Amino acid sequence: MRLENKVALISGGARGMGAVEARLFAREGARVVIGDILEAEGRQVEAQINESGGECLFVYLDVTDESHWEHAVAATVARFGRLDVLVNNAGIFPMARVEDTTVESWDQVMDINAKGVFLGTKHAIPEMRKAGGGSIINISSVAGLIGSSHSASYNASKGAVRLLTKSTAIQYGSEGIRANSVHPGLIETEMSAAMRSDEPVLRRWLASTPMRLAGQPEEVAYGVLYLASDESSFITGSELVIDGGTTAQ
Ligand code: NAP
Repeated sequence: MRLENKVALISGGARGMGAVEARLFAREGARVVIGDILEAEGRQVEAQINESGGECLFVYLDVTDESHWEHAVAATVARFGRLDVLVNNAGIFPMARVEDTTVESWDQVMDINAKGVFLGTKHAIPEMRKAGGGSIINISSVAGLIGSSHSASYNASKGAVRLLTKSTAIQYGSEGIRANSVHPGLIETEMSAAMRSDEPVLRRWLASTPMRLAGQPEEVAYGVLYLASDESSFITGSELVIDGGTTAQ
């Protein structure tokens, strides 16, 4: 199994891509902690994984709150003894152009999408150091690589994640702690439902995507699995783009 003996913490793991990654990681032998603000959905994923022979723990985690991260990391180590993999996956995606973005909305997006990744990284590193290394996978977006017609704060936050990842890679590479960013294109989850139901936006998006379709959460999860595993042991500071070719042109 590709993640045998590894312990992984996945933020925003109650639904969407995070939940798919949690199930895949468990099938590949990892013991998994999922942290989310959606408690009922998170407990459901926890139960499903445990009932199907995996090992999973749900913790309530608001990624904007430093004390929640301290608790999530401590609970991970208390239950499973170590921390090898952190997937900073939690995020929100408001669709608003610059002039339509309020200061409150800007702050909320930066808090969840960017500060949340910083806090998770900060609190995972000491435990990864104790474990002799680790892998941090930050879920950015193609919106962290190119601008867009329909969002502003989201692009800013995902661009921040891209470069925080590289600084993390540079600062902790010598300790065997790797950090990579993942850049999905349009993926079919609840998050993208509003965008997918906006006909003109969807039409423009698909027209600019060589594969002419939206991706599935599993197609991102397999990339995240690779970065979590020792198969990617010499990869750090890199960007894995999973977008059907949208940003290739
Ligand atoms: P999703 O289905 O909305 O799942 C995201 C999860 O994060 C939800 O359970 C959400 O809860 C949770 N979350 C939100 N705020 C949180 C907070 N403060 N603390 C902890 N958890 C929080 O989204 P997804 O599509 O799987 O997206 C996962 C990641 O991929 C995100 O970082 C997203 O930006 C990125 N991404 C998605 C797409 C796409 O097309 N779907 C494309 C590129 C990148 P709530 O439902 O309560 O908000």
